[in-house]
Amino acid sequence: MTLHINQISVRQVKGVSAPKEPELHAFGVHTVGDLLEYYPFRYEDYRIRELSAVKDGEKITVQGKIMGEPVLQRYGRSKSRLSCKVAVGQWLVTGVFFNRHYLKDQLEPGREIVLTGKWDQRRLQLTVSESEFPGSKSAKSGTLQPVYSVGGSITQQWMRKTVQQALVQYGMMVEEVLPRELVAQHELMPRREAIMRIHHPEDTREGQEARRRMVYEELFLFQLKLHAYRAWNRERKDGVSHKIDNEAVLAFVRQLPFALTDSQKKVTNEILHDMRQPYCMNRLLQGDVGSGKTVVAAIALYAAVTSGHQGALMVPTEILAEQHLRSLQRMFEPYNIQVGLLTGSMTERQRRDVLGGLQMGLVQIAVGTHALIQDSVVFRNLGVVVTDEQHRFGVNQRSVLRRKGMNPDVLTMTATPIPRTLAITAFGDMDVSTLRERPKGRKAIKSYWVKHELLERVLGFIRREVSAGRQAYVICPLIEESEKLDVQNAIDLHIQMQQAFPDYKVSLLHGRLPAAEKDEVMRQFGINETQVLVSTTVVEVGVDVPNATLMVVMDAERFGLSQLHQLRGRVGRGEHQSYCILIADPKSETGQERMKVMTETDDGFEVARRDLELRGPGDFFGTKQSGLPEFKLADMASDFAVLEQARDDAAELVAGEDFWKLPEYEPLRERLVREQIFQGDLLD
Ligand code: ADP
Ligand code: MG
Repeated sequence: MTLHINQISVRQVKGVSAPKEPELHAFGVHTVGDLLEYYPFRYEDYRIRELSAVKDGEKITVQGKIMGEPVLQRYGRSKSRLSCKVAVGQWLVTGVFFNRHYLKDQLEPGREIVLTGKWDQRRLQLTVSESEFPGSKSAKSGTLQPVYSVGGSITQQWMRKTVQQALVQYGMMVEEVLPRELVAQHELMPRREAIMRIHHPEDTREGQEARRRMVYEELFLFQLKLHAYRAWNRERKDGVSHKIDNEAVLAFVRQLPFALTDSQKKVTNEILHDMRQPYCMNRLLQGDVGSGKTVVAAIALYAAVTSGHQGALMVPTEILAEQHLRSLQRMFEPYNIQVGLLTGSMTERQRRDVLGGLQMGLVQIAVGTHALIQDSVVFRNLGVVVTDEQHRFGVNQRSVLRRKGMNPDVLTMTATPIPRTLAITAFGDMDVSTLRERPKGRKAIKSYWVKHELLERVLGFIRREVSAGRQAYVICPLIEESEKLDVQNAIDLHIQMQQAFPDYKVSLLHGRLPAAEKDEVMRQFGINETQVLVSTTVVEVGVDVPNATLMVVMDAERFGLSQLHQLRGRVGRGEHQSYCILIADPKSETGQERMKVMTETDDGFEVARRDLELRGPGDFFGTKQSGLPEFKLADMASDFAVLEQARDDAAELVAGEDFWKLPEYEPLRERLVREQIFQGDLLD
């Protein structure tokens, strides 16, 4: 069998020496295939131009005839200025070469020369950066030269030469990977040609066509992975088939203190349907803050218990874990269901009790932080895992569960509505349920943006709300680089607020407090023993105190849009009119834009859309947990139409039988196997 270019080490390319190899590795280039896919990010234009068509200051390439003797001036030992007159068309141009005195002898009058450099219109002068004589062996003139991202001892020139060498040695081995019908349908350049052309296009249009083809390929192969994974997951029978007691679930829903919204009913049905099936549920529940996701999670957990299984609810913070523990205990108490808590800061003894209960099945529901899936945690019969307020069921967590011999249904809940672009890429492997409406009777939150100088009036506003029996949050920023300083800020602000409201109880919450203290602060705020809560962003996600109606954010310009929206979502959770006041003096335009968006809309989907616009997709989720793939060529914003096309094509392909059977798709299927798509670790 002949080797594939993705199996041949880049060392085999002539010119790649042992010391160069690790430097290429640092660019992600290990194989010949990688090198050929090391695309230029732009081209340098060495095509010969007419002087009449160029603008002052442009970098251009012209061809002309040397007129008269060159003039050399030297400054000190190594500096020099060499100039000579060149006839370009009907213009007489002065070519100026700095520090290249050695060229003097070659600049013979009457000789044709190609000059590249910066054009000075007024002086009719070209400051030459590169020159060559027509017909020389490595002539660049007349071409578009690729510009690669380079560094270390790898120079632009070396990279060009080496990629070119790889094309010469291995270009013929480049094989088509896309299905023939798609290449034809979208009139794509064949792969071999596209790889050649993307490095060395004849003209701009050809470069674009080559790029269009490779972008489509990149997005198609990515979407194919997601859809093949979904299709495969749906077919497998090794998940938990919950035998849900429908009557019991209905009774549970009926005794809730409120009626479910239509949206909640719909998504609950979607979730329970998945849970009954033998495949592993892999579902995303997205809903704006305050749309009522927790109760949906509770129903899913309860349903698992009626089937004789255990359920787990995983949350990002201890505060949230404690809050969910309390509300689940309240809900499940009449049913004699035990709810256990697992967090990092529990005592060994408490921990041992819960662990024992889970292992024996005496504790049916576990709530906790990441501590929930540590190796020491053994469930007797885990059926469903719900993760709240996390963008993804993070790295390797699913495989951790699988290693324990469990294949639970997984429901991921997020309050950050995902704009469509990102949903397709980041969550393309999941089924999505969306909570579109908020519970009835909620009033829109009124949002204001004020300057710092109005702080006195804001304090008056807080007093008004508090004396009417409501509660308020006052948020100060927490920037991770200097947690200490920020905690000090929070402490100072707390003192300031205590002085402003001596007749009310003002408490303080920040990440550095011991867990028990955090819990106590939240408990007191939850029952209105404290009226004003000064806090860092630790309350950002999930915290639910319906009597709180006022959210004041200090230095609001230091937060991103999604974060501000999350913070605002802490109010407007009950029947009372709620307010969000952003105190900010943003200097930057985007800072001001963010404040504007916040005051214009309180619809999370709209906020997310504007956020994406302002930040771009790469930044949208912040770093790590994003689950966003990195593309070599494709750009989420400008290639969106291609992305949608690629998604449709991939979905259609895997939905048919041909893909799974016909030999012509064998290479694609092998590729999916190689990438371990069918082991269920996709994007974990
Ligand atoms: P989120 O989606 O932000 O997690 P929660 O689940 O915390 O929202 O719900 C917000 C508040 O709305 C909670 O106090 C919850 O009890 C209440 N709630 C949820 N569903 C309904 C409903 N159908 N009718 C009235 N209130 C509801
Ligand atoms: Mg929530």
